[in-house]
Amino acid sequence: MASEFKAGRCMLGRIAKGRDLVTAIEDFCLEHSIQTAMFSIIGAVASVTLGSYDQKQQVYVTFKKEEPMEIVHCTGNVSLKEDRPMIHAHGVFADIDGHTLGGHLFSETKVYAGEIYIRELSGTPLIREYDEETGLYLWTRRNIGNEYQGRKG
Ligand code: ZN
Repeated sequence: MASEFKAGRCMLGRIAKGRDLVTAIEDFCLEHSIQTAMFSIIGAVASVTLGSYDQKQQVYVTFKKEEPMEIVHCTGNVSLKEDRPMIHAHGVFADIDGHTLGGHLFSETKVYAGEIYIRELSGTPLIREYDEETGLYLWTRRNIGNEYQGRKG
């Protein structure tokens, strides 16, 4: 149902202009040996790639916007997939007129300026494995137990 952690290191960092946002966060985690964490980012991008999960086809449908946008809100978590930190992030981005678009964040999102706040979580690292039912890599039941169902009856 849930996994309990203790608050670990609390870090602020700057992501360099031109870096891929997803790769930069993964590298940050590798460099600082972060295995489980929550993070949020604000800043700006030169281009962004977002997507939504098509639950029927069980594939991500992505779209890329090649224009400067503000990172209005980008939040996510870090857990392990095949022993490497995997980023799961969602974001809302705004164009010059303030129109927003959002979705699941993908690589090929080029940073213009990025400020990250990351909160490490200490405990047994969370691991992602393929889930037959959804077609997604989800946190394993070994880590997290069964999904939260709420009270029954
Ligand atoms: Zn997602």
